Amino acid sequence: VAPSHIRNFSIIAHIDHGKSTLADQLLIKTDTVENRDMQAQYLDGMDLERERGITIKLNTARMKYVAKDGETYALNLIDTPGHVDFSYEVSRSLAACEGCLLVVDASQGVEAQTLANVYLALANDLEIIPVLNKIDLPGAEPDRVKREIEEVIGLDCSNAIYASAKKGLGIAEILEAVVERVPAPADNRGKPLRALIFDSYYDAYKGVVVQFRVTDGELHKGDLVKFMNTGCEYDIVELGVLNPKPVEVDALYAGEVGYLAASIKQVADARVGDTITLKKRPAEEALPGYTEVQPMVFCGLFPTDADQYTELREALLKLQLNDAALRFEPEVSSAMGFGFRCGFLGLLHMEIVQERLEREYDLDLITTAPTVVFKAVATDGTETVVDCPSKLPPGNRLASISEPYVRLEVITPKEYVGSIMELAQQRRGEYVDMQFLTETRTTLVYNMPLAEVVTDFFDALKSRSRGYASMEYAITGYRENDLVLLDIKINGEMVEPLAAIIHRDNAYYVGKALVKRLKELIPRQQFRVPIQAAIGARVVASESIPALRKDVLAKCYGGDISRKKKLLKKQAAGKKRMKSLGRVDVPQEAFMAVLQIN
Ligand code: GDP
Ligand code: MG
Repeated sequence: VAPSHIRNFSIIAHIDHGKSTLADQLLIKTDTVENRDMQAQYLDGMDLERERGITIKLNTARMKYVAKDGETYALNLIDTPGHVDFSYEVSRSLAACEGCLLVVDASQGVEAQTLANVYLALANDLEIIPVLNKIDLPGAEPDRVKREIEEVIGLDCSNAIYASAKKGLGIAEILEAVVERVPAPADNRGKPLRALIFDSYYDAYKGVVVQFRVTDGELHKGDLVKFMNTGCEYDIVELGVLNPKPVEVDALYAGEVGYLAASIKQVADARVGDTITLKKRPAEEALPGYTEVQPMVFCGLFPTDADQYTELREALLKLQLNDAALRFEPEVSSAMGFGFRCGFLGLLHMEIVQERLEREYDLDLITTAPTVVFKAVATDGTETVVDCPSKLPPGNRLASISEPYVRLEVITPKEYVGSIMELAQQRRGEYVDMQFLTETRTTLVYNMPLAEVVTDFFDALKSRSRGYASMEYAITGYRENDLVLLDIKINGEMVEPLAAIIHRDNAYYVGKALVKRLKELIPRQQFRVPIQAAIGARVVASESIPALRKDVLAKCYGGDISRKKKLLKKQAAGKKRMKSLGRVDVPQEAFMAVLQIN
């Protein structure tokens, strides 16, 4: 297809504003998929994605569209993941487009992710087409929301489109607008090949399947290609376009979007953001914007049953084939036994991996509380990356600890501003800016330690705003703070997975609350169990769990054996998700208790 007849675009939206529903409608309207084949939300393939209503992995679809001018166009819809954890992937898929549809729920208005996505689109010089969705809702106020977009984003909304993805309204206008308003890709067919990878996933038969946008030149099946940032070289085994099912082609040219398979072993070898060129006629410079993603949140994963260690390792290896951002290394803890220290982009990424391990691989896991990556400087000047509190140099050799900071942007109805500012303050937030978006809504900007955001901040924000506030954050750098290691001892033994690095001002309070919470969570044992929190040698809080008085079986009067069995079975089931620490059984909730304290 000639560049003049190609349009590459994506859809950006705040979560739940209707991106997936609109994508489905575009596929139906262009007969790309038949209505009856339509599994709701075609592009969100994975079950988990559909359940959570988020898009994790990107996907594309090529649609054939006959426009009002009588010409046939190839419209490439490139899907973007909808969450801040995956913002690097969002930005790469936007870099593969010339334009985007900005979908805003006409009954809601501009939200935090709307803004964050618009910034990414503007940074990539995209033509933005505003779409006011859900106009079928009785509470829809498209005119008001249109003004809001103009005021807040400064985007001309005179030709905004009114739509209902659910009712199929406005879809024809949207397709026509894509052809008319999204610029055609530049005609760079004569240049040496450059193609931007915006997604890659592992397929058990084909190896890694790489999705890319050809910016310059052309590539053919059988070509020897080179990934410019990693230096890896491969022969193209299969070349094609996604329709959205794969359809093989012999060649792809500048402006087009497609996929290739080349027996690549893992996605880390074909990373999002890398540039593909030809070995025989290489481009001089890679396309801009390649970064190695760094996991920012770590936690320990331990099998409840030590026998599942090998299974857990194999499951992690399999997930990693598909997920270049997932890191793991073996971790041995005297308390927890053998497990893995795992790194994630953020909390959502972490939850998704945990859930997949449990669901798809049928593993029972104990997860330790997530921690951010600290940096510690020892007295001799050496710097350590601390992704686990136990990696902190000992107190007498520790000079300083720094922690990652984010710039946090919250959008909220104005009546909740006071309460949210109070929350931000409690979480060590540093006020940066406040602006009225409209007469009724406000944006608040704070600098805040990432550690405070990865606890239950989002939940707290939602509950203080009755669900109406939305947030986004981006990591800005590291800052030295007065941080200390809070140790927890249960029955006289140090429990490493419960240790936390926290601000000294909070240490006393957190120690007290944590010890109290553990007392509630840990079931009574046959003996008294002391629980202590300490900073270095100094105990800051202590409690104890009294010994169990009655034998559970005493209730059975010795007689009824089947009842006795039932009771023992019930106990065994209750033991699931417990980890024996020395002589004490500790439930999964206990390892997360530190997150609920604020
Ligand atoms: P996404 O998170 O942006 O992908 O949003 P979805 O497409 O998953 O839609 C979120 C919810 O809004 C779903 O329950 C949809 O059925 C609903 N929805 C989407 N578009 C419309 C619309 O035009 N009108 C109404 N009433 N509901 C819609
Ligand atoms: Mg969606």
